[in-house]
Amino acid sequence: EKVIFSGAQPTGSLTLGNYIGAIQNWKALENDYQCLYSIVDLHSLTIRHDPKEFRESCLSFLAQYLACGLDHKKNILFFQSHVRQHTELNWILGCNTYLGELNRMTQFKEKSERHKDNINSGLYTYPVLQAADILLYQTNLVPVGEDQRQHIELARDIAIRFNNAYGKTFQLPDIYVGKVGARIMSLQEPENKMSKSDENVNGTIFLLDSNDVIVKKMKRAVTDSENVVLYRDEQKGIKNLITIYSKLQNCSVQEVEEKYAGKGYGAFKTELAEIVVESLKPFKEKYQDYMTNPDYIIGVYKNGAERAAEIAEKTMQEVREKVGLV
Ligand code: ATP
Ligand code: MG
Repeated sequence: EKVIFSGAQPTGSLTLGNYIGAIQNWKALENDYQCLYSIVDLHSLTIRHDPKEFRESCLSFLAQYLACGLDHKKNILFFQSHVRQHTELNWILGCNTYLGELNRMTQFKEKSERHKDNINSGLYTYPVLQAADILLYQTNLVPVGEDQRQHIELARDIAIRFNNAYGKTFQLPDIYVGKVGARIMSLQEPENKMSKSDENVNGTIFLLDSNDVIVKKMKRAVTDSENVVLYRDEQKGIKNLITIYSKLQNCSVQEVEEKYAGKGYGAFKTELAEIVVESLKPFKEKYQDYMTNPDYIIGVYKNGAERAAEIAEKTMQEVREKVGLV
């Protein structure tokens, strides 16, 4: 059976970008593959945080995964930090990664721009830990947004290098990105991707935003003066909104263009806001249910960690032996 691995960082809360770019695809894969979906809490430590808030947001993330409809029996849902093999493999892979490779990573450049007072070595070696996350499970496919392409390619390069040096140990992972929606843009700066850590919260729709906030953010979304609903590169803001519409309504971008031909941005934005609110309604209800049931959440993550660790340990035994650890 083919293996899928993916994850999200538990900072703040899930965004419409995470949902459309990643989680919608995760859900679609759960019947045909062995899927591992992690909450990569160790990755989040690269950013300054308040421990108490962080802990709560980690638990909230698991409730959000479940509320998105991810089935914890079909999928292995777990916290990265609960499976110690991630950090162990991280070290060994780091010894097989060149500084030149890490220097080329654009996410590091962007994130160190944004967090100038905290350019720590974890932020720099982040892609090595991410490679460990993926390679530990002999992953075939990694469903992520377009922004992660460079990191997945690095994971592949590290695996190839390791396999060449020590004999075949790791499956080479492939990236899996959707044709539409792999890069949802900020509502305020449509040239940048929507991010949960964006300081301008008006650019990001969080799945847990109240209905009023969603309507407000949609209304304020940056567009242009053309006032025609067309999917083209010259109209970045509108193109992004059409993408969101088509992904949530499960229709093509052409269908959206036809539906709004001759109508202006006002009508389009109002209806899109309604669609977002309606699409998130069941999510929010389920989220509340899970959050009022902490024992259930604990059961899910403990079971997930056990199942993940079993697979991870198999790989680690081979890795330790291959590199010559006694
Ligand atoms: P951060 O700002 O903390 O990096 P993020 O929104 O980029 O937050 P991640 O946890 O880094 O979220 O990524 C989780 C998943 O969501 C990844 O698969 C990533 O590729 C995908 N993703 C993130 N942002 C977008 C986006 N704007 N459009 C499509 N997919 C996205
Ligand atoms: Mg990110």
